[in-house]
Amino acid sequence: MTLAPHGSPEALDRLHAQIRACVVCPLSRTRIQAVPGDGPVTARIMAVGEAPGETEDRVGRPFVGAAGQLLTKLLESVGLERSDLYICNVLKCRPPGNRDPLPEEVEACAHFLDAQVELIRPDVILLLGRHALQRILPGAPGISRSHGTRIRDRGRLYVPLYHPAAALYNGGLLATLQEDMRRVRTYLDEAGAERLLAAQREAQQQARSQAEAAAPIPHEQLSLF
Ligand code: URA
Repeated sequence: MTLAPHGSPEALDRLHAQIRACVVCPLSRTRIQAVPGDGPVTARIMAVGEAPGETEDRVGRPFVGAAGQLLTKLLESVGLERSDLYICNVLKCRPPGNRDPLPEEVEACAHFLDAQVELIRPDVILLLGRHALQRILPGAPGISRSHGTRIRDRGRLYVPLYHPAAALYNGGLLATLQEDMRRVRTYLDEAGAERLLAAQREAQQQARSQAEAAAPIPHEQLSLF
């Protein structure tokens, strides 16, 4: 678990501005606008989707269409709010006709997603669908095997989930997503408790070091001088 604090709101605003101004790949010529991400830099839970859809491209915010509404309901069903979450996508610009992201587009956007994770430093990162899973954990089992499980990788905690859009088309996935979201709630609570415990240990260690540094030199040692 990473103990270092999250970045500043100003740093996140600067990153969002860079994303809005990006013209590195051809998607910048077909988009209406880039969709950087949404939510507080202090969020303890982060979600990563695939790419903006038609509504997101128009509005400039991620997950504001039907899939986003379902995600909000799923979060609320376990006592979380959309505003508890920082949410973004693998791609920051809409692929024409909502086609799958191309490898070169994922590559061009990769540093933005890395910077977002580094600034938010959440307790748990939800990987919504196979594109987010492949981008962040390329060696992990596919989404049908890994959904709802907890995967630790290089000090971070990930939970792959079916993309909410998949449950809009396949009603059978809804119960699975609901069950997985209940697990996410447990993982989040446990990760939060772990973080508090680690912070307490660190504070105790600091207090001990300060007390040792301030302690008077024992008499026997003084007599050596
Ligand atoms: N689907 C996504 O993956 N991202 C969005 O922002 C909207 C729908």
